[in-house]
Amino acid sequence: MNAPRRVPPEAPARRGWCPSLARPMPTGDGLLARIHPPLGRLTPDRARAVAAGARRYGNGHIDVTARANLQVRGVTDATRCGLADALAAVGLGDVRADGGPQRLTLTTPLAGLEAGLVDVPALAHTIEAIGLAVPRLPPKTLVAVEAASPGIRLGSAEADIHLVASTEELTLHLAGDETWWQVPGADRSTVVAAALRLLAESGQRRMRDLRVDARADLGSLGLRPATPPVEASAPRPGLQLLSDARVALLVEAPFGRCTADALDILADAADALGPETFRLTPTRGFLLVAPDRQAADAARQILADAGFLTRDDDPRGAIAACPGAPACASGSTPTLTDAARLAEAFRPFAARGLRAHVSGCPKGCAHPAAADLTLVGRNGDYDVVLEGRPDALPAMRLPFEAALERVRSADSGASLAQIFSERPSGPPTS
Ligand code: SF4
Repeated sequence: MNAPRRVPPEAPARRGWCPSLARPMPTGDGLLARIHPPLGRLTPDRARAVAAGARRYGNGHIDVTARANLQVRGVTDATRCGLADALAAVGLGDVRADGGPQRLTLTTPLAGLEAGLVDVPALAHTIEAIGLAVPRLPPKTLVAVEAASPGIRLGSAEADIHLVASTEELTLHLAGDETWWQVPGADRSTVVAAALRLLAESGQRRMRDLRVDARADLGSLGLRPATPPVEASAPRPGLQLLSDARVALLVEAPFGRCTADALDILADAADALGPETFRLTPTRGFLLVAPDRQAADAARQILADAGFLTRDDDPRGAIAACPGAPACASGSTPTLTDAARLAEAFRPFAARGLRAHVSGCPKGCAHPAAADLTLVGRNGDYDVVLEGRPDALPAMRLPFEAALERVRSADSGASLAQIFSERPSGPPTS
């Protein structure tokens, strides 16, 4: 085992590129083209078109993003137009060419399936139309939309505007504010449009960066302070009985990635379950709707065999990982392979609710926020960050095998601080 070395962090890589089909982003494994399925919904045929496009025009690898979009990797300058044309032909093309957000809204996976709640997909559809009419809307603008139920499930941190709707009222939160606001019933569209215009005209990229005096413009719209909704946990992989006796099956793509072959298997499974479209989820997965428990169990087994996470105790669910090397030029470590090996060793810690992140570099694409344990690739080794963001000061630097061995051999009750203390652990490597 190798002795730790204290090392300073480096500045994270540049953020900000928002790829689309027309504007794919260069990465280590070629161009990355992002697909924005309308309202996060897919039909089996559209999913197969993505899989076919990934095989023909990319390298067969597909990402599922935390905003419930898909990314085809390994696209080239010679294939990018073919991919864009093929996906536009099935209704998955870009929707705007002015640099604005290709998909503005994010909804909970169960939106529209919950009995007695407001029609969230219809509301999201309206907001998408409002957003398309706002010029100069920053590309990363996000409006989270969910129904008022026992607790909100979409985190507020990433959304510029967070809407929680019931049949009677709409409450709204702007990133950077402490207050939630109640929107007068007749003025829902007016207020959402005003908030989007406010951001577009501010010149800022995110709502959280708006000055307090700029937000004051919304005061004339008759908003009243509202009680902040309680946060609830996001749905986990597994089965959920719906009020009409159907069963929702939520699965996750391991570390947010799947192959074209796995997406085809998912499309076939969705096809076999019936006519309901299936959904992408903000947990980097998919939600399918089965007519009954037996059908859901059968689909769950097929998807588990294809490598998807289908149970909430799968330790891979406690670990985030970016593509790393060789897929991304900024990475020097095989993050996905390392994350898969770390997952099994991390199982007792995952059972305690701890979360880990294996990041190819300090940019932290897969999870820019803090995790209990973050391994940050650097020159083939990993910086070890405890309870910090990927760009935080690391406690030490270790080769992956040494870090893995510390987790694997630790007492299941040990703290991560104990596991990654500066204790002597063998001859130094340098
Ligand atoms: S975090 Fe990972 S995917 Fe993002 S730039 Fe770094 S190596 Fe690449």
